[in-house]
Amino acid sequence: MKCENLRGCIFYNDKMDIESGLGQLYKRKYCEGDKTLCARYIVANEIGKENVPADLYPNMHERAEKILEENRK
Ligand code: SF4
Repeated sequence: MKCENLRGCIFYNDKMDIESGLGQLYKRKYCEGDKTLCARYIVANEIGKENVPADLYPNMHERAEKILEENRK
């Protein structure tokens, strides 16, 4: 199922080179596959889209976890 944040996602729309191999892979795996595995989605879902750094890639799960930890303090 497509991610409902796809339209407004800075990463998807501005940053990701969806023509490149890696971009295609991310797009298929996360945005059009399982959004719940996307680091950006996870952060947005817990603490709001405004708290998702522009340079957080969908596969940066450790960084996402740190952001969420910081937010819990
Ligand atoms: S990068 Fe993540 S939050 Fe953005 S559209 Fe893809 S799955 Fe959704």
